[in-house]
Amino acid sequence: MEAKAYAVHSPTDQFAPFSFERRDPNPNDVVIAIRYCGVCHSDLHTARGEWPGTRYPCVPGHEIVGEVTAVGDAVTRFSQGDLVGVGCMVDSCLSCASCREGLEQYCERFFTGTYNGPTQEGGDNTYGGYSDTIVVREEFVLRVGHDADRLAAVAPLLCAGITTWSPLRHWNVGPGKKVGVVGIGGLGHMGLKLAKALGAHVVAFTTSPSKIEDARALGADEVVVSRNEEEMKAHSGSFDFILNTVAAPHDLNPFAALLKRDGAMTLVGAPPSPHPSPDVGNLIFKRRSIAGSLIGGIAETQEMLDFCAAHSIVSDIEMITMQYIEPAYERMLRSDVKYRFVIDMASMRGAG
Ligand code: NAP
Ligand code: ZN
Repeated sequence: MEAKAYAVHSPTDQFAPFSFERRDPNPNDVVIAIRYCGVCHSDLHTARGEWPGTRYPCVPGHEIVGEVTAVGDAVTRFSQGDLVGVGCMVDSCLSCASCREGLEQYCERFFTGTYNGPTQEGGDNTYGGYSDTIVVREEFVLRVGHDADRLAAVAPLLCAGITTWSPLRHWNVGPGKKVGVVGIGGLGHMGLKLAKALGAHVVAFTTSPSKIEDARALGADEVVVSRNEEEMKAHSGSFDFILNTVAAPHDLNPFAALLKRDGAMTLVGAPPSPHPSPDVGNLIFKRRSIAGSLIGGIAETQEMLDFCAAHSIVSDIEMITMQYIEPAYERMLRSDVKYRFVIDMASMRGAG
């Protein structure tokens, strides 16, 4: 079937309407009419060729929510009319050790990205959620338990939610733990909400003094303007865990110095050029760790969605039209988004 989308054809191109064919559903496929798609900073990194390996034309979008319009004969868990989500992955080998543990994001044969493929069969590019429809195998489709009227604000959970949830869970964030979230953008604002809901004492680190009040409303018990050395030093050696979501290279040392003995800082931000190498002594003398984490597995994504539905957690969003995507990217680069842009796909159905 024909899908209407927005694509770029080169790193310097502007988004423009683009049509392509979605595959006819296989027996285990779910066909989804996309209602809303969140705008992740990874979309921008990919579309503008900031990371190596972008395949063009590029149709980003991996925070997808919508309604099932058809299912293949072998699909058992979904039926027409269900509200569902699709995150960053649409396939993986499902047989390697990581996949068998439910960690498809670390598939040893590499998962298939929702956009910027290739498919498991090889060759093709995959096209993401800046489009009106998508066909996804059942194993990679998530159930949405939130009320239908909050669907747009659920979309960012599919990447920003799971990318912060997975490390918070892996590093056992909960009651009695002091947790920092660095960078209050799409990922960071979800990190604040989730760490708070998990029962931790949460401290937000921002470079934007204008976000102090918001950060408290989002769940931070304390807020530190990270460019203020005195404010930073007051927290020296006191954190169990820090989640760093910053999308640009920066000095990691002032944050590593805030960790307790045995504390860990996990980097989920993936800047186009490297951070300056962190000071080793800062790590050695307190057995501190700097780690990384990639999105989250499918079962864990469902767990996060169910947790958010039960705790009434959604993203704070600004709804945009598909046609607004270029200004939205420029505003994201200026940290001027509260806190996630979500594209209303009705705008695509209306226009060319
Ligand atoms: P975002 O909405 O642009 O938020 C990033 C935040 O980082 C900004 O709001 C800003 O917060 C802070 N920041 C930006 N530039 C900075 C600078 N030069 N110095 C210090 N702080 C700065 O982006 P996002 O969608 O949350 O994504 C964040 C990063 O995570 C991106 O690199 C993205 O590709 C990556 N990502 C990784 C994964 C994964 O699986 N690991 C998944 C999704 C996204 P303040 O204004 O509060 O300082
Ligand atoms: Zn993302």
